[in-house]
Amino acid sequence: MKRREFLASLSAITVASTLSVKGFPNIIGKAKPREFPPLPYAENALAPVISAQTVNIHYNRHHKGYFDPVNKLTEGTPLAEAPLEEIMMKTYKDKANLNSPSLFNMAAQVWNHTFYWNSLTPNGGGAPTGKMLDKIKDSFGDYETFKKQLTDASTSTFGSGWSWLVADKKGKLSVVKTEDADNPMTGGLKPLLTLDVWEHAYYLDYQNKRADYVKAVIEKLLNWEFAAKNLG
Ligand code: MN
Repeated sequence: MKRREFLASLSAITVASTLSVKGFPNIIGKAKPREFPPLPYAENALAPVISAQTVNIHYNRHHKGYFDPVNKLTEGTPLAEAPLEEIMMKTYKDKANLNSPSLFNMAAQVWNHTFYWNSLTPNGGGAPTGKMLDKIKDSFGDYETFKKQLTDASTSTFGSGWSWLVADKKGKLSVVKTEDADNPMTGGLKPLLTLDVWEHAYYLDYQNKRADYVKAVIEKLLNWEFAAKNLG
């Protein structure tokens, strides 16, 4: 499908669609004006686990590079004022038919990166406490089992992708991984935390040692308060 045809097909989608994005983390806020989501901390806040240089390039070039096309691709379409989550849900099925860069991939990468920055915090990591620890124990048995599953998911993706802690509709937690820009929301799962395992997320600091990046992030940066907030 050519871009022009795709945009024409979008106009057939009513803005008042009943497709719901309720129940998922709404981290982007209102669509209009659609603003580039701010970093929740200074660029050097995650060092030495993730250097200021990596955060700077990852945020200002990669994340921003996904953001700008979303506005261009939705301009003049019924999705111009739609929240990012709605764009993702409505364009997911069409993504295989689209020319690059596809609106789904751009919108999802904006969402995923915003969620990633918020999934990290200085002095985070390790086992959660309180309600989140109870949920981890209920779903995985213990924290170490969760940690191993997240590590395995993050190190076993062959190409580019993301690993996630998610909750299903019954509140049971699990670890899933997605390829490229894909997001568990399109499969009905609620993201609680994510880890970017695209090479650009770690290459300057760890080169090809993805496992070292994954281990350090899990042990030192995961934002359990954010996960608890998303769990609701
Ligand atoms: Mn990235």
